[in-house]
Amino acid sequence: MLLSVVIPCYNEEENIRLFYKTIVQVFGPMMKNTELVFVNDGSTDGTMEHLHKLHNKTPYKMKVVGFSRNFGKEAALLAGLRNASGDFVAIIDADLQQRPEYILQMLEILNEHPEYDAVAAYQDKRKEGRVLTFFKDCFYKIIDKVTDVEMVRAASDFRLLRRNVVDAICNLPEKCRFSKGIFSWVGFNTYYMPYVVEERMYGTTKWSFWKLFAYAIDGIVAFSTTPLVVASFIGLLLCVVSVVLMFVIVIKTLIWGDPVAGYPTIVSLLLLTSGIQLLCTGIIGQYLAKNYTETKNRPVYVVKDLLDSSKK
Ligand code: UDP
Ligand code: MG
Repeated sequence: MLLSVVIPCYNEEENIRLFYKTIVQVFGPMMKNTELVFVNDGSTDGTMEHLHKLHNKTPYKMKVVGFSRNFGKEAALLAGLRNASGDFVAIIDADLQQRPEYILQMLEILNEHPEYDAVAAYQDKRKEGRVLTFFKDCFYKIIDKVTDVEMVRAASDFRLLRRNVVDAICNLPEKCRFSKGIFSWVGFNTYYMPYVVEERMYGTTKWSFWKLFAYAIDGIVAFSTTPLVVASFIGLLLCVVSVVLMFVIVIKTLIWGDPVAGYPTIVSLLLLTSGIQLLCTGIIGQYLAKNYTETKNRPVYVVKDLLDSSKK
């Protein structure tokens, strides 16, 4: 049995060594059956040098995939899954917000319950601000309504997957990778395990509010065409309203013959309709943009360095 642990790293120079020390200590004899797959997502600090040094001296199985630039966490996850050769593959952050002890618990669950193919950890109590929690709740409510795939609230990328799940994920050809959706889309039996998130060891989070917002839009566009249906529906509704209004105005003018009055109505309607038109064009544009990215067929990431301790 081989367990691969995928660790995406972006500017984590202070955390790498500590993460390695912690996992070696926690896993103990299990390290003999473990392969560490670090993905350096185009860090601009000393992350790659730290990984190089670690790779040179580690007695354990370790791979390092280095990107040519920052391609984002989703790309890093895909590279990690593609390079992992284990029968089980775990995904964990490099900042020790997720304790490696939980991976052993997840492994126990999969060993005891052959009917499960994956274990996903979810945060029991979220340590986030109220505003962020509110927006995240809104996002999950919307995505739940507009997509067929079920995305469990608060379930993170912190997971353990069996080989069949990993293969299914790697075989998806899409370039816009929204992992949360992909994990649900591939199906399989997932066990949801609560966990407590720790404070980040060093450095800062890479997710700003706007980055999260763009990520949420990406997720909705990648997994649902409902916004397009809504846009068409709004268009249809407006057509009906305009025809009715047209009749009312013509009849009113014929009876009272006052062509000047009604300026505010015209301006309001003009603003409303042009606003809705722009919104709907924007929605269509989002899908067009996704289509454009997919048809260009560029790789999700470009690898610059590939280190493998078994080939030393
Ligand atoms: N990460 C990455 N590429 C990015 C952003 C983040 O590989 O473009 C990694 C990061 O190094 C960390 C994990 O993804 O190991 C989670 O990132 P972070 O801690 O910033 O997210 P948060 O825990 O705040 O959700
Ligand atoms: Mg973190």
